[in-house]
Amino acid sequence: MADTPKQRPDTILTHAGLKPRDFQGFVNPPVFHGSTVTFPDVDTMLSGKQTYTYGRHGSPTTTALIEAIVAIEGAAGAVLCPSGLSACTTAILAVAGMGDHVLVTDSVYGPTRNFLNTMGKRFGIEATYYDPLIGAGIRDLIRPNTKAVYVETPGSHTFEMQDLPAIAAAAHEAGAFVIVDNTWATPVFFSPLQHGADISLMAATKYVVGHSDAMLGTVAANERALKPLKDAFVQLGLSVGPDDVYLGLRGLRTMGTRLRQHEASALQIARWLETRPEVARVLHPALPSHPGNDLFRRDFCGSSGLFSIVTREAPIGAVKAMLDGLKYFGLGYSWGGFESLAVVSDPRRIRTATTWTDPGHVVRLHIGLEDPADLVADLEAGLERFNAAAG
Ligand SMILES: *Cc1c(COP(=O)(O)O)cnc(C)c1O
Repeated sequence: MADTPKQRPDTILTHAGLKPRDFQGFVNPPVFHGSTVTFPDVDTMLSGKQTYTYGRHGSPTTTALIEAIVAIEGAAGAVLCPSGLSACTTAILAVAGMGDHVLVTDSVYGPTRNFLNTMGKRFGIEATYYDPLIGAGIRDLIRPNTKAVYVETPGSHTFEMQDLPAIAAAAHEAGAFVIVDNTWATPVFFSPLQHGADISLMAATKYVVGHSDAMLGTVAANERALKPLKDAFVQLGLSVGPDDVYLGLRGLRTMGTRLRQHEASALQIARWLETRPEVARVLHPALPSHPGNDLFRRDFCGSSGLFSIVTREAPIGAVKAMLDGLKYFGLGYSWGGFESLAVVSDPRRIRTATTWTDPGHVVRLHIGLEDPADLVADLEAGLERFNAAAG
């Protein structure tokens, strides 16, 4: 809970939400499959005092994960959503509606932008996209009806770092809520709620679940945002299947340890890629060469396994030759699991507030838990194929 700030993250991840004495001493809670929950008598039913009342409203399995998320986020409360995207849309719908305006970083996760441009628009929410590097300058974009500022730091393809405290100060002066998608860092490496956010969300599909075997989202809120968040969750009828909640809980226990290995291997590989002539830029916020490195060092205490490279200018065939032949990097969306992944991304086709000018190709890598020496060898062979195909 919010009153345990002295526990360090790994200790919270290990213990939060566990109640072995409630379950005959078993360390983990059972997976409660259930819709109907019965009451002993009408009085209890009418009193509203029974802890569990209906499957959609929670079970001891969901309570365990929610308590752990609340503790690691330093939040007043949290809800679980059936996917990361559903966490993003629930957070927005909790604080914005008909006639409201939201400011959204131009580096936002693509499907969140798609939601705002389609259903959000249809429901009367107007979105303006802003330069992720805007900082305190966000003040100039705030309108009387601006209800939320949406932040993602760093962006999950292009890795711009955002000045959350400066953005939050301007937003709060105007009475707007601040929502942060913290999927990349997780609360182990960055605490949005302690840096000015009102709502901190994660695609728990990624590092929380950690094994590429379930979809899950978490949304944590401070006191101010909790009631609207819980209301939206109930009104939308959201519910996560207990097996997936359990996989989230199971993944969370080892998240800190896994993240530190992802971090070490990703940094080693990112530094090596910086020395390669095929690579024009490495977009990794923890590298001194990254334009957001000062903000990273000020606000974050670690980096995860996801970063991008920009290749030297070459035909797309060179990137295909490189990626198609990789042995350990799967070609796939998502990330945060134990395995390495690669994906080609084209920010030019997505941006509206900023212009992406790098002439090379953006290749995003997720560095998994393989031995980094094997990953370097795999990438080295890939870069040789890149060169052969680039001519
Ligand atoms: C993957 C992702 C999401 C969406 O999560 P899903 O579980 O795939 O719906 C949201 N935000 C970011 C930054 C992501 O990388």
